[in-house]
Amino acid sequence: MVYMAMARKWRPMSFADLVGQEHIASTFKNAIEGGRLHHAFLFTGTRGVGKTTSARILARSLNCSGGDPLSPCGTCTSCKDIATGNPMDVIEIDAASHTSVDDMRDIIEQVKYTPMIGKYKVFVIDEVHMLSKSAFNALLKTLEEPPDHVIFIFATTEVGKVPQTILSRVQRFDFKRLNNKSISDRLAYICEQEEITASLTALDLIAQKADGSMRDALTYFDQIYAFSGQNIDEDAVRNILGIPPEDLYFDLIEALWEHQLDKVYGVIAQATASGLDLSVFLQGFAQFLRNVLFAKVSGLDHQALEVSEDLFQRYREAVPQATHGDLLRYGKIANDTLQQMRYSTNPRLSLETALARMAWLDRVSDLRKILTTVQSATSSAENKKKYNEALVPAEVTTPEPKPDLASEPTLRPEANLTPEQFSAPELSSTPEPDLAPVPDSAPTLDPNSDPYMEAPPEADDFSIDFDDVSVPSPQIPRFEIVSQWKRVVQDFYNSEPLVGAYLEETTLQRGDYQASPFELKIIFKHSQNFQYEQITKSPNYKNTLTEFLQNILGGDILLRYELLDPTPEELAELNAPKPSFSQPKPNLYWEKDLKEEAILQQLSQAFDLQHITSKLKNNHSQN
Ligand SMILES: [Zn+2]
Repeated sequence: MVYMAMARKWRPMSFADLVGQEHIASTFKNAIEGGRLHHAFLFTGTRGVGKTTSARILARSLNCSGGDPLSPCGTCTSCKDIATGNPMDVIEIDAASHTSVDDMRDIIEQVKYTPMIGKYKVFVIDEVHMLSKSAFNALLKTLEEPPDHVIFIFATTEVGKVPQTILSRVQRFDFKRLNNKSISDRLAYICEQEEITASLTALDLIAQKADGSMRDALTYFDQIYAFSGQNIDEDAVRNILGIPPEDLYFDLIEALWEHQLDKVYGVIAQATASGLDLSVFLQGFAQFLRNVLFAKVSGLDHQALEVSEDLFQRYREAVPQATHGDLLRYGKIANDTLQQMRYSTNPRLSLETALARMAWLDRVSDLRKILTTVQSATSSAENKKKYNEALVPAEVTTPEPKPDLASEPTLRPEANLTPEQFSAPELSSTPEPDLAPVPDSAPTLDPNSDPYMEAPPEADDFSIDFDDVSVPSPQIPRFEIVSQWKRVVQDFYNSEPLVGAYLEETTLQRGDYQASPFELKIIFKHSQNFQYEQITKSPNYKNTLTEFLQNILGGDILLRYELLDPTPEELAELNAPKPSFSQPKPNLYWEKDLKEEAILQQLSQAFDLQHITSKLKNNHSQN
């Protein structure tokens, strides 16, 4: 017996068999029963969702002489003719390879002749958006006045590229992307018919990999069936389709979150050893992150994500301390890296670098945390001690870890200042050179430190308890919001460090507290131009902030933003000669950072830091 591929064998023969496109089947059913059949159709939808199959089913239904057009008999001359795969009354053209006007003239020529067997001659033009402009024009006239025996079915994956003149002359059907359950149900049905034993997880995996395409799912199924025979299990599916085991990703995200780079690289080694393509591996991780994020959103369940209840629960419980922002940043790095890997000559290096960045990410937000802590309680000497402790590891990382890992500065011993040294008032005017906590142009690299490893043990001091310095939020009465603004900002910062940091030093004005919406205006000093722009240019930031205020104040809030004109002092400062570090001379990278990074500027203001250009100059001034 000749083996027939599952994809062919189980291709739907009637609308009743068509999976996931019930809306289309019922529309046709009504049109055929009511005798209101249009002469031209456009089927749109992504690949493999059943467009051409539906076109064939429609051709069968229309030409079957069996009496019930909705379930073609399969035995009449027309049905048998169509089943041969080369039917006389159904003409299929792939527009991708027949784009010219001559190809179109051939078709128009054939339109004239009446059907050989059935009632209709059906023209199926696949990927119709590929036709040239002149080919479309040649077709237009026929579309306007077609003979009664002709039906046109156009199929396209890119409906946006089909000219309006065609769109306005056809009846359009949008084919839905199939959900995983429809696909795995259909596969389960086929398994039952073919007496194949397959686990549900295995079928789910095929469905996930097929990503909405029934045709792909059947192709994968064929591949796996050829390998496994009558017993299909999860391992076989993962092996053949190259799907990394989900456990690998759970290990990976744990290791990233715990900064255990050795374990991260262990996971990569494991993936490579099992023959996984590294970009497939990273793509899987991006998908995994999406699933974890999705599972952590309240109100959604495993059905929405189309995974098992157990797996959904595992997603939900993964890295419990990670915020949505953390996961989004992981996801962004993964996506950016996927693009890079396409052109990279060393994809493994790209992957390792990306994962290292992810592992270091949380220190980025910690730097901002420190900043706000610094600014929110400058009067307390007790807190200054904390900032000082915090500052040490803050210098360990830069806000955006550079891809060049080897040059990443590690801990610098001279940054270990005592609290007393910092709180001493005279330091601001005459700093002792050896205290200078400004990174110099050549950061000292601990020769024993491995840049791929975690920061040295001292960095553990980093985990200071910010709860001590932050103030818990009560629900605030509306008339107190202005006086409580600092606390509100601090609270907001605790949930949204990035936006919260921009609000430092702002003041608030309020409108009538009984009005709805309650009007609030956040006022930025002229020098906070950068912070003002960051917030006002981002609808997301603004929404987050409005939602937060609505939560603590209740009711509708109308939030406005104002950037003040410069005060006379600020104006004088703006017009004054530039401070020495910004005078034209070779720019050291930290000088550039100081000028351009608002965070660093604020940090240096908060500590009243002296800018020391280089060690050489430093020594010189000492003499
Ligand atoms: Zn028939």
